[in-house]
Amino acid sequence: MSVEQAPVQRADFDQVMVPNYAPAAFIPVRGAGSRVWDQSGRELIDFAGGIAVNVLGHAHPALVSALTEQANKLWHVSNVFTNEPALQLARKLVDATFADRAFFCNSGAEANEAAFKLARRVAHDRFGPEKYEIIATVNSFHGRTLFTVSVGGQPKYSDGFGPKITGISHVPYNDLEALKAQISDKTCAVVIEPIQGESGVVPADKAYLEGARALCDQHNALLIFDEVQTGVGRTGELYAYQHYGVVPDILSSAKSLGGGFPIGAILTTDELARHLAVGTHGTTYGGNPLACAVANAVLDIVNTPEVLNGVKAKHERFKSRLQQIGEKYGLFSQVRGLGLLIGCVLTDAWKGKAKDVFNAAEQEGLMVLQAGPDVVRFAPSLVVEDADIDEGLDRFERAASKLTQA
Ligand SMILES: *Cc1c(COP(=O)(O)O)cnc(C)c1O
Repeated sequence: MSVEQAPVQRADFDQVMVPNYAPAAFIPVRGAGSRVWDQSGRELIDFAGGIAVNVLGHAHPALVSALTEQANKLWHVSNVFTNEPALQLARKLVDATFADRAFFCNSGAEANEAAFKLARRVAHDRFGPEKYEIIATVNSFHGRTLFTVSVGGQPKYSDGFGPKITGISHVPYNDLEALKAQISDKTCAVVIEPIQGESGVVPADKAYLEGARALCDQHNALLIFDEVQTGVGRTGELYAYQHYGVVPDILSSAKSLGGGFPIGAILTTDELARHLAVGTHGTTYGGNPLACAVANAVLDIVNTPEVLNGVKAKHERFKSRLQQIGEKYGLFSQVRGLGLLIGCVLTDAWKGKAKDVFNAAEQEGLMVLQAGPDVVRFAPSLVVEDADIDEGLDRFERAASKLTQA
């Protein structure tokens, strides 16, 4: 039985919502697999995946049943009590990764907030109050809380909100010499996205991550991998660090972890986890039974050879066709990324016009993403059907054709 709600339209957004977003002109109302329908019944193919979140598409039967089963049992108890889904999820994550311990929260920003606080705490406990500096990379993105925008360091996100968190510096990405020059015994952590997601789908070089690992070890600094976007099968491995063979001290995860249900996590070792003793950190909803029940179902499906190998195969299917389209219409200079996190770099002629490509795709019934003004990003479901990939890329080609002829 559903409760009737008053009808709403896109125009209502401009009247009742804080204007911090500029959503598309249509309102999605239903999804199934990699297809979405809007209020008018128009069908779209979804290569955006809710910004690398809907890892198993929309309304995946296993996730729907995990959620509804849990919804009929227990929604929330707070961390005054633990709960079965949270313990099951932690066990799965620990078994599948370098980590011994998990901390659950509700978003990527909150996971990074916990990671940065843990790094500072560890340094404080072990080496005293002078060791608190964090080194991040230029154009990184770690979330929108004050600490995480300060670490991200992009002025468009961090300026105009008063004093920032201090002790944070930024070095060019993939530049080991720059990191070497900046790191010191006052550094408590270096934080790196294995693939810079928001700022253009830029993969790290293996030697860079290996070098960062060694520098952190030399200076008693922790290596944090922000895997909020790259985690949970996105790159064809459960986590991108496994692709690179470089193990962090702390890993943050969110986005795909809940397949569309909000959840975040940090993963770390026993030795470091000790520093978050009782009372040092917390969050009311963290490890919520509903979120954890869904994330358990996500991991059961994603962390299988079928799905992970499928991601690698689907990468090739996307990449070869995108390269072909990019060349034919003079649109892309490069197609980069790993697994199903793919960035198409616009040619000089189309630089700054990723939004136009987004709009043209939408006109053809296709949802894509931007990653900054110069890159078109694809982050579809990891189980997107090959037929949907082909149909979606046909739509994308029509969009490219119309856009470049206009
Ligand atoms: C999306 C993202 C975040 C922020 O996650 P939220 O859930 O929006 O807080 C942090 N880091 C990276 C790499 C991301 O892609």
